[in-house]
Amino acid sequence: MDLYEYQGKELFRRFGIPVSDGRLATTPEEARAAAVELGGPVVVKAQVMAGGRGKAGGIKLANDPAEAERKAAEVLGLDIRGHVVRRLWIERASEIASERYLSVTLDRGEKKPLLMFTTEGGVEIEQVAAEHPDALVRLHVDPLAGYDESIGRRLVGGDAQTLAIVEQLYRCFVECDATLCEINPLIVTPEGAVRALDAKVTIDDSALFRHPDIAEWRDTSAADPLEALAREKEVTYVKLDGSVAIVGNGAGLAMATVDVVVVAGGRPANFCDLGGASNADTVTRALEVIAHDAQVRSILFNIFAGITRCDEIARGMLIAIERAEISAPIVVRFDGTNAAEGRAILADSGRPNIFIEPTMLDAARRAVELAA
Ligand code: GDP
Ligand code: MN
Repeated sequence: MDLYEYQGKELFRRFGIPVSDGRLATTPEEARAAAVELGGPVVVKAQVMAGGRGKAGGIKLANDPAEAERKAAEVLGLDIRGHVVRRLWIERASEIASERYLSVTLDRGEKKPLLMFTTEGGVEIEQVAAEHPDALVRLHVDPLAGYDESIGRRLVGGDAQTLAIVEQLYRCFVECDATLCEINPLIVTPEGAVRALDAKVTIDDSALFRHPDIAEWRDTSAADPLEALAREKEVTYVKLDGSVAIVGNGAGLAMATVDVVVVAGGRPANFCDLGGASNADTVTRALEVIAHDAQVRSILFNIFAGITRCDEIARGMLIAIERAEISAPIVVRFDGTNAAEGRAILADSGRPNIFIEPTMLDAARRAVELAA
């Protein structure tokens, strides 16, 4: 689960990381009231789950409440890379002497948290990594040994304020079960105060049950519409960005199918797991979700039936094709219980958009071909 900047800053504040005082606003009038309360110049900040808001016109300085109201009206409703601005964070403006970057991420390859720091903050970290790789310090933390100050010193040097923030950010990462805690920019003011001016936090969905207070922050209106539909229809579905839709029964088989489609040169449109005991109804609901994805060019069914019966799946497919008016080609690989019966039902249906293949690899190749 990704957090909005203001939510990430709330977590930072709980862990002692200095952030600017601010208020949430959803209308220009609320933005004006927030500016009055805060006093002095403020920054009007679009709250969307996308980076680079500054460049996209989503971050504006306002010198007084009237200007805050005007800037809020400009920013509300803006479309920032597909995210429409509905919430604003109005924050007391900071003076900036320099901008740094600090983050903790989960390095899955190393199976360790990774700390990153650079004094070249304010720009996107990928750009720093590409243009000034020497300026980027990367250090892993052994999760069993934990963090100690010698790690912080190697990362950022001896400044006490920055060292404290590194330790607090690491604690925030571990205690909130985060997979990302990023501060960009971490600023130094002309007076020498160090403060987090932005917050990007991702919490591991599988650990959210341990953090009911954070789970409550989920903004269902910002969720991917396809994934929201899938949740509503109780379909296990993850949206991906390719054109070959994938349906398997069992998470392992569905993941293997994603891999085989990539091996065959294709790009999966989604991961969809019908589950262990799937039937006609499960298939219908899954296909209804998939039918809503305009990027889908072909659909690959990979069924290895045990408790599930292939004839049931075949019947569900025919119902769903009718109901959801699916015209994309559907490639089917059936194996296991009642596979022959399932294939016969599909063959007898006379549907020109159903293709039956004998193996998983053959089916993946055909689906990729049909999506081209
Ligand atoms: P992002 O573009 O989505 O990463 O949004 P940020 O919150 O990082 O803001 C983008 C940029 O706006 C920062 O790198 C700063 O340069 C600038 N900015 C944000 N808040 C302030 C502020 O309080 N004072 C000043 N002077 N600049 C700010
Ligand atoms: Mn930023």
